[in-house]
Amino acid sequence: MQGSEVHAVLTKIGATQLHHANSVTTSSAFLEQRGLLSRGFVEDGGLKQTPQSSDDKDKKYDIWRCVFLDHVDIHFRAGRKKGPNQYGPVLFILDLDILLALPAGSDVLVTRSNPIHWYDDQPDGERWFQSADELGKNIRFGNFDKMLVIRSPSGMLDFPNRRARIMLDNPQRQFSSGQDVYTQAEERLRAAALTGKIQVGIQQHQCRSDCICIDKYAKYTHEQLEFWFT
Ligand SMILES: [Zn+2]
Repeated sequence: MQGSEVHAVLTKIGATQLHHANSVTTSSAFLEQRGLLSRGFVEDGGLKQTPQSSDDKDKKYDIWRCVFLDHVDIHFRAGRKKGPNQYGPVLFILDLDILLALPAGSDVLVTRSNPIHWYDDQPDGERWFQSADELGKNIRFGNFDKMLVIRSPSGMLDFPNRRARIMLDNPQRQFSSGQDVYTQAEERLRAAALTGKIQVGIQQHQCRSDCICIDKYAKYTHEQLEFWFT
């Protein structure tokens, strides 16, 4: 689908922003390279990214060189219960209009279900919406399994006007070194933005009142905190 077609459908259901969540390590690579990067782009460039459980399936189903976006903030919905976003504590927020200015040759696909649930020999029509018309008839605001998958020729999506907006989880924890996790993660991201000459706005993630991410983060080991926040 064309970016403009998907833009029209999402506007109709009330979406105004797109979201991408990741670890601090991978997000730092994004800021240094000035855009959201597909897993394949990072790997090919020898850059650092944290492994994801979906990596093998992404390669198998030919979405390894795509950039994933959600029309909702799935922080509240990840996993079986509300809690931290399973893809990481750094949430990039992009204006929906980025779909109107995609690089020439880009294709926008929308999944019918999370690719983690796909199986071999599954018909294409069960994995992807086949047209903007079909998408419009089936998507509702908050359908977080209907993910936008952008296939751009370069495998990346530049931050418009070299600006990025981030909401960062504050787990209210310390690393084993005694340093505050949020403070150190924010410093790391700001340093990466400086390297990439990106103007970055970082604010603490605003949780719903019934969010339980702090309870979940309280149970993280120091290794888990380091995995996601350094
Ligand atoms: Zn939360």
